[in-house]
Amino acid sequence: MTQSNDSSARPTMKPWIEAIHAYVPGKSKGSDGRELTKLSANENPLGCSAQALAALGKGGDPARYPDPDATALREAIAQLHGLDAARIVCGTGSDELLNLAAQGFAGPGDEVLYARFSFVVYEIAARRCGATPVEAPDADYATDVDALLAAVTERTRVVFLANPNNPTGTYLPRAEIERLHAGLPANVLLVVDQAYGEYLDEAEDDGGMALAAAHDNVLVTRTFSKIYGLAGERIGWATGAPHLIDTLNRIRGPFNVTTSGQRAAIAALGDQGFVELSRKANGEERDRFAEAIAALGNHGLRAVPSKANFVLVLFEGALTAEMALGALAEGGYAVRHLPGQGLPHALRITVGTRQQMDDIARILRDAARAVS
Ligand SMILES: *Cc1c(COP(=O)(O)O)cnc(C)c1O
Repeated sequence: MTQSNDSSARPTMKPWIEAIHAYVPGKSKGSDGRELTKLSANENPLGCSAQALAALGKGGDPARYPDPDATALREAIAQLHGLDAARIVCGTGSDELLNLAAQGFAGPGDEVLYARFSFVVYEIAARRCGATPVEAPDADYATDVDALLAAVTERTRVVFLANPNNPTGTYLPRAEIERLHAGLPANVLLVVDQAYGEYLDEAEDDGGMALAAAHDNVLVTRTFSKIYGLAGERIGWATGAPHLIDTLNRIRGPFNVTTSGQRAAIAALGDQGFVELSRKANGEERDRFAEAIAALGNHGLRAVPSKANFVLVLFEGALTAEMALGALAEGGYAVRHLPGQGLPHALRITVGTRQQMDDIARILRDAARAVS
């Protein structure tokens, strides 16, 4: 056995891990430590269903491990969505499942592809398994299917697509998702990340579930963190062909969803009234806020059209995103600035209550007028 006598020796990080910039979560405090209204993490301003809250309160025996297969939860999901429970896997947030999808199907020498200005976890997931992240150009902040297809190589193993997309809020209609799938080689896994899927109207179904039901290379992911308002419980799920689910089951944490999380999620699924209320309120406030931003077009402000529970506001005039970020913090609001993602000129603002959104629009209007 050889032993290092070098006293400076220490475990060395793998180079592909070293290339990862740790995920930067949305803030709830100002630079001075003051508590701000948090509109930086796309959480539901209405909280969660009272039934989910009651289920959480009931507890359970914390000395016992949770159901490793989340059987009752998968059955409840299957029933609501008209799926086969055997084709569902639950995760510690959909974040875990996105990482497992990359890890299960890509590794060193392989490429993981996604659009520019999409979810930052895709790059982390690619790097975590030693694969090479590849970014396709966007089309005015929206996902460009032709650009994605043009970026596919022999090494591409996984394509991630968030629909609606975070942080832009843009949405690809069904025909575009189908065109993307049709253009991909059969050995490439398409992951359709529907974290904001519940915010869409029924007529806006992007067809991801139907593709996942019919093909061997499509996985759809969903989460309880957004419209269901259970971000703190960390529950997500994915559906796809049995061999995809089998792959994820092999590498997931064996007890990856807590007992309380499973209970809360089941109760939340049972309260679709809360989901409907959240979708309606979000749509109204989002569109109203987008109109308020459109009225500031002469100051260089622009809202990227959003189908999600947030709006990406571009600052292309005298008022910069940094200045707006400061003015909003001054006014008591934390929103998301993503310069590390190539968006130094934009702020992603989660849709809050009417009063909050009117307040934010007013702060932005005052700030824009003050510099022009
Ligand atoms: C918020 C979000 C998720 C969900 O993350 P969880 O781990 O389920 O909380 C997944 N994808 C996108 C695009 C998101 O914005």
